[in-house]
Amino acid sequence: MREVSVGAVALDRFAQVLPPERVALLSEAGRRTAEALAGRTVWNVSSTERGGGVAEMLQTLVGYGRGAGIDTRWFVITGDDRFFAVTKRLHNLLHGFRGDLDHLDPADQDHYREVLARNLEGWQGQVSPGDIVLLHDPQTAGMAQALREHGAHVIWRSHIGSDRSNAYTDRGWTFLRPFIESAEACVFSRKEYAPPWLTPQVTVVPPSLDPFSAKNAPMATHSIRGALDRAGIVRRSDGDGNLAFVRRDGTAGTVRAHRGLLVDEDRPLPPDAEVLLQVSRWDHLKDMAGVLTAFTDHLDLFPQNVHLLLVGPDVRGVTDDPEGAQVLEECRELRAGLPPSKRERAHLCCLPMDDVDENAHLVNALQRHATVVAQKSLMEGFGLTVTEPMWKQRPLVASAVGGIVDQIVDGVSGVLLDDPTDLERFATLAAGLFADPGRRQQLGAAAHDRVLRQFLGDRHLLQYGELFTSLAS
Ligand code: UDP
Repeated sequence: MREVSVGAVALDRFAQVLPPERVALLSEAGRRTAEALAGRTVWNVSSTERGGGVAEMLQTLVGYGRGAGIDTRWFVITGDDRFFAVTKRLHNLLHGFRGDLDHLDPADQDHYREVLARNLEGWQGQVSPGDIVLLHDPQTAGMAQALREHGAHVIWRSHIGSDRSNAYTDRGWTFLRPFIESAEACVFSRKEYAPPWLTPQVTVVPPSLDPFSAKNAPMATHSIRGALDRAGIVRRSDGDGNLAFVRRDGTAGTVRAHRGLLVDEDRPLPPDAEVLLQVSRWDHLKDMAGVLTAFTDHLDLFPQNVHLLLVGPDVRGVTDDPEGAQVLEECRELRAGLPPSKRERAHLCCLPMDDVDENAHLVNALQRHATVVAQKSLMEGFGLTVTEPMWKQRPLVASAVGGIVDQIVDGVSGVLLDDPTDLERFATLAAGLFADPGRRQQLGAAAHDRVLRQFLGDRHLLQYGELFTSLAS
């Protein structure tokens, strides 16, 4: 286990975006929660400090907790490849998907237990009876029993799930049931995700976005352009993307002024390109390959200057997702097999994960630069990659699956694709948005408003505060 250090952030920062009554409510709740939890620590345990929605939210929620005067800490487990292969399988199963392998045998369960027991050693001693421990997702659920026996209030927080059960979800829950039944409370992003047999208290807390993080803070147009140019993703309109330099012998030379984040030495997009963007982990359920095929098979529906940009993390930086490299490779092969006229309109981009702020800054720039944002997931617990562009007033076309149907009101704050496997329909909806700037603007404005009302951190913190207080009292 290792600790992720997060600095305190004052709750009154919300005054920059929220009406005074909402800020007052939050401050008052923060004060009451801090009082109720005096002398206790709130521990968060997750599987990674970077990449994915959980890490994204913990970065800020932990900071606000500390800012409210609550001793809030975040630890990340360590595990080997086999452990993360098992938990990735669980992840797919709970989404109702088979993934690479659908079975989990008793040896897998033993290994899962052993890895988590090793993580508990040494760390558990820091937890005091009466503390609150939030275990995030299947990767950490196996710690619940030991922590409960130790006297902690244990909450299992699932960020994933499926509206409908099937043989795969049943298999996933069968594996996890003995572990999560030890928790005192379980938190899901939608009520439909909770399995019917769950006896611990179930609370529904949809995820949220932090408007002040490097990923979501306002950016000036020239900063957006500068960031994308330096990263070698989009050429600036006011330059050719080259930096001049003088050689030792006095002659002039130029060098490309970019880090070349487009894969396969792809050339940056022209400055006047309009971008259809999907930002996701390289995960089968995000269906990056489906977006690539939908776009390139129906290129004739789009104006000539529209380019597709599929953006995901540099998979070498992500430890808890063994499928990442494979999915990226599939996309690369698909792209490589396209005729040049199509290939030059579709781009893959891997963002470095070693610097969290740089990564966030680039995602921010990309989402603000995009003309239309896609999230063609086959399943989605709740997509921060939907909330983030909504906050930036971008029009979205997204699959009507999982939490996305709570996020987007179809035709009002975005456009929903009923069948996420219908590639032609996806292309038609996306192309329709490129053809209609007025509609894009309307959808974008309504999207921002919806996030402001429902999906900012204050609501999330209020819900957590209530839950923690009820457990501690
Ligand atoms: N993300 C990122 N860099 C990437 C891909 C994704 O920072 O290359 C972020 C994205 O902006 C979002 C999070 O990872 O904040 C993904 O969260 P989401 O809830 O959409 O999906 P998850 O990955 O948790 O399934």
